[in-house]
Amino acid sequence: MVGSCLDLRGQRADPDTMNAFGKILSGKSNYKTVESIPKKMCSGCKKELKPVDKFCSDCGTKA
Ligand SMILES: [Zn+2]
Repeated sequence: MVGSCLDLRGQRADPDTMNAFGKILSGKSNYKTVESIPKKMCSGCKKELKPVDKFCSDCGTKA
């Protein structure tokens, strides 16, 4: 966010701010920003997995 005039530091935990920010990004209200979705990670190779993945596409470890 270098060069941005928006400084959200110190406000990130505020739900109203996050909701408004998601609204700006998506054009929808009550949109959850990507940041708020917990990421799934392979326990074997630490590859980032999609939430729907049952197995790691890289090493086959059960997610
Ligand atoms: Zn893996």
